Amino acid sequence: EREVNATPVRSDGDLDAGLRPRSLADFIGQPRVCEQLELVLHGARGRGGTPDHILLSGPPGLGKTSLAMIIAAEMGAAIRVTSGPALERAGDLAAMLSNLVEGDVLFIDEIHRIARPAEEMLYLAMEDFRVDVVVGKGPGATSIPLDVAPFTLVGATTRSGSLTGPLRDRFGFTAHMEFYETDELVRVLRRSAGILGIDLGGDAASEIASRSRGTPRIANRLLRRVRDYAEVRGDGTVTVDTARAALAVYDVDELGFDRLDRAVLNALIRAFGGGPVGVSTLAVAVGEEPATVEEVCEPFLVRAGMIARTPRGRVATAAAWHHLGLTPPAGALN
Ligand code: ADP
Repeated sequence: EREVNATPVRSDGDLDAGLRPRSLADFIGQPRVCEQLELVLHGARGRGGTPDHILLSGPPGLGKTSLAMIIAAEMGAAIRVTSGPALERAGDLAAMLSNLVEGDVLFIDEIHRIARPAEEMLYLAMEDFRVDVVVGKGPGATSIPLDVAPFTLVGATTRSGSLTGPLRDRFGFTAHMEFYETDELVRVLRRSAGILGIDLGGDAASEIASRSRGTPRIANRLLRRVRDYAEVRGDGTVTVDTARAALAVYDVDELGFDRLDRAVLNALIRAFGGGPVGVSTLAVAVGEEPATVEEVCEPFLVRAGMIARTPRGRVATAAAWHHLGLTPPAGALN
């Protein structure tokens, strides 16, 4: 007899999927985006058409993929998922586009990383629901026009600034996702705790929420780490004390900064005297990709009031000096 393991191995990624909100009503926070989106979707439904192409922009983990799935669900449409880096050749995109059926949602994550030939193909598909497929090479190459079923492109990007003008212009609606307020993250945590069967006290929820960098994905991740701690070191109940102790183990400080956030602040202040310094120089100093520092780390440090962007580079604010236990120099930004 073969032994059968009844519990399939589940990664954090699977768990994330289980925690995704399924409808706009289920989606917590982002009231402006939700209201605008509701109008776009309602309008299209009323006319019996497909909604305009939609661009979702904002830092990672704020719910862009979840919203794309919700858009499809609210329209009763199927969703096809791909990403900018996966569309290296225009042919890859042509294959996806020609397989769409009317009303489908095509979700392209990290759309700012799409290769130029695929991007150019996308212009025509978005505007005229048509692609020109080039067959052959050199002087004998011919271009074959193909119809594409009317679809809605939902693009997600962590840096809408690096989208080319022509691509940005072809979206009928752009949603700017903001970091979540602590009370919104408390609601995210309560919902997730309910789904995962975690006994989460109210104060503990606030404690985790206030250290989640304004980001639901991080809130859910910290919740799971705190649960581990509560189960291994306690009776499974998540109290403020277990939350604090667990977050200390994972190097999350009172403001929610993780190792990389603190490394960036340290470099900015100790190595560069508080700036101004360019973001790529900072990235080299902490041994990270510039894109990670710029798209993941910096937006939250700016929102937390630790870093200011100036024309000459990044500058540490007085609050950042204080956070590291140092006295800010005279003239430090507030
Ligand atoms: P992004 O695509 O912006 O990186 P995701 O849509 O993948 O973010 O969201 C990450 C996780 O955070 C989701 O799996 C979901 O569990 C949670 N999440 C995001 N936004 C919300 C929200 N508004 N309400 C509840 N949970 C959310």
